[in-house]
Amino acid sequence: MNIDAKYHPTPEQLEGFAQGSLAPGMNVVISAHVELCSTCRKSISELEEAASEEWLRSAPATRASSINFSAMIDRIVDHPQMKGDDITRNNVPKIHMLDHSVTLPRALAKVASDGLVWNQLAGGINQAMVTLDDQTQCEFLYMKPGSQVPVHKHQGNEVTLVLDGSFEDELGHYKPADFVVRTAKDLHQPASEEGCLCFAVLDSPLTFTKGLARLLNPFIRYRFRRATSAAAY
Ligand SMILES: [Zn+2]
Repeated sequence: MNIDAKYHPTPEQLEGFAQGSLAPGMNVVISAHVELCSTCRKSISELEEAASEEWLRSAPATRASSINFSAMIDRIVDHPQMKGDDITRNNVPKIHMLDHSVTLPRALAKVASDGLVWNQLAGGINQAMVTLDDQTQCEFLYMKPGSQVPVHKHQGNEVTLVLDGSFEDELGHYKPADFVVRTAKDLHQPASEEGCLCFAVLDSPLTFTKGLARLLNPFIRYRFRRATSAAAY
């Protein structure tokens, strides 16, 4: 599947992905984008190639004992996202929308394969949370046509991968495969005219800044803390 994305992960995010140093939630959303985006697939291959060259230069002793090393690297570079993935084309989970269904990228199909529980939020937004680790909050979001998320800013990073339809905010209009990165500095209000399905990963709680939505803040912080502290206790 190849769609021309206009917005991509940052170079730091791609590097972290290639090195395997990201939290599982962030890893999944980048993996899903890379599956859809040939530009980023190429960047990942180059990063992995550079890393393997670096390894060849720096570890002659280890190298001598790894006869199949280059064959192994070839396999990794050829299929960076498919290791251990046994989902075949015939049973890829789809998300059923009002009038059509959406085939998910493999990385997300796996995430959704246990079933999703949708909750209706205010403003025509539906949310299905998934727990992938204790450092991120991950969710599928479905914005009904004409819906709007309250104005909010982030204490950390929020990344959103568009899967179907489109949404817009103050900085742009986002279509399938677009990877939207918002940091602690950004204040934004996503809205969707035609409706939009996306997958969002947040590495710290949202802060709503206006009106009634502000009242949600303690709840959101509580929920996030509960999610992030599950592993600590
Ligand atoms: Zn890309």
